[in-house]
Amino acid sequence: MQAENSLRILFISAEVSPFAKTGGLADVAGSLPQALAGMGNDVRIAMPRYKSIDAEMKYAADFAVQMGDRRETCIVRQGEIAFKLENDRKSLPVYFIDSYHYYDRDGIYCYMDDADRFIFLCKAALEMLPRIDFWPDVIHCNDWHTGPVCLLLKEGYKDQPFYSKISTVFTIHNLEYQGHYSKDVIRLLNLGDEIFVPEKVEFYGMFNFIKAGLVYADIINAVSETYAEEIKTQKFGEKLEGLLNIRSRDLYGIVNGISYEEFNPAQDPRIYKNYSSETFKDKKLNKYSLQKESGLPEGDMPLIGIVHRLTAQKGLELVLDVMDEIMKKDVQLVLLGIGDPYYESRFKEFESKYPEKMKVFIEFNAALAQKIYAAADIFLMPSRFEPCGLGQLISLRYGTIPVVRATGGLADTVIDYDKDKKNGNGFVFTEYTSEEFLKTLDRALRLYTDKSDEWEALVRKALTLDYSWRKPAEKYIRLYRLAISKTKDAK
Ligand code: ADP
Repeated sequence: MQAENSLRILFISAEVSPFAKTGGLADVAGSLPQALAGMGNDVRIAMPRYKSIDAEMKYAADFAVQMGDRRETCIVRQGEIAFKLENDRKSLPVYFIDSYHYYDRDGIYCYMDDADRFIFLCKAALEMLPRIDFWPDVIHCNDWHTGPVCLLLKEGYKDQPFYSKISTVFTIHNLEYQGHYSKDVIRLLNLGDEIFVPEKVEFYGMFNFIKAGLVYADIINAVSETYAEEIKTQKFGEKLEGLLNIRSRDLYGIVNGISYEEFNPAQDPRIYKNYSSETFKDKKLNKYSLQKESGLPEGDMPLIGIVHRLTAQKGLELVLDVMDEIMKKDVQLVLLGIGDPYYESRFKEFESKYPEKMKVFIEFNAALAQKIYAAADIFLMPSRFEPCGLGQLISLRYGTIPVVRATGGLADTVIDYDKDKKNGNGFVFTEYTSEEFLKTLDRALRLYTDKSDEWEALVRKALTLDYSWRKPAEKYIRLYRLAISKTKDAK
């Protein structure tokens, strides 16, 4: 039985942890719904069933989805995400949208027909609803893959009573990825050419998926307050700042949380030795174990960790620029990342140059990521831009002190220790230069080596901070209610 004031929410995402993950979107799509369900709402998730997913699931529905002139078969299978609420075991339904044609492949993204694959996701998720007898108050769409859901509800489905009262919230996790495809996408959507105008989905002669979300969603939000402001400027707006300014009354910022159940140093089975703020000294054992496993000399020198998608966004150019300087110091560095071959090979070159001080893992490995968060003393995040960033939140949760550039969510979550000793939880620089980055890293290293008591206090404080979904989930409920009231007003 659903509580009286609760909401029915369908969450749609291209990646959802623990089933498929390339970055922070998956973390959010896997954990925010748990927090919302924990508050008594009926929350369900829809995502593609990629070949790599081997979760338990059962048949829920099958139907044909009209994709232009073709009809493609969709089979919906229902699985679940289990979670703990206080001492109860709970679960929420996950609907895997299955299509042999579109998803039975090894990877998640970067196929020639990605436009077709994600239009299929959007259409199938909507078509599924009456068949599973779920009528959401709100559909929560995430990033470019799901933009067409907002468009379809307002254009294609608007006269169908089942769909006309459903509201939408569209979350921008990263505006850099927009989904630009040829105008033919409109055929796949079975919509008319009248939407191919700059006020709607046209963008420099292309169909723009994220724009479809930003134009048609009832409410839009970005994953931090600062990023919500930044994307209204030319510097961060990725050529959509004009539209975002037009929609600024409906544009909000909510800083992401992280799952305090999944990311819990006191219980995480992936790390070498569990610890908490009371037993924080055991954190060191994680460092020794990682050093051993990585073939680095064991010792108390500061260990610098990096866990990122290797893309220009992450500002790793600043680190590469001063790598020789960093390696002159009594430090070690462990990097885990995958992405742009340029960064992969540059970091690998430095690893061969400094085999005693540096270890580089070029792979996606969720367990190793946790080992690094637990083992490192300092976590680097000198991002060029950062919509929210989860790396700094996860590292704080593991008592690892972040060194970040003040942009987007990093500016909202990390406070410079030297400027504000009471509230400080990391080290922050503003100007995007390797000199500023190095100076800031030096400040962190000096505190570690010269003032170990203060460093320990900082670590202990980090271990007690609350970056869980508790508060952000409440803010999302307010956004859902706003979206619902807008849909009602429009009737
Ligand atoms: P983004 O979403 O831009 O990739 P975030 O900081 O928001 O950055 O989230 C990144 C998430 O992906 C974190 O959970 C991080 O631990 C994880 N991650 C990034 N790279 C890897 C990797 N190579 N192996 C395992 N986890 C990774």
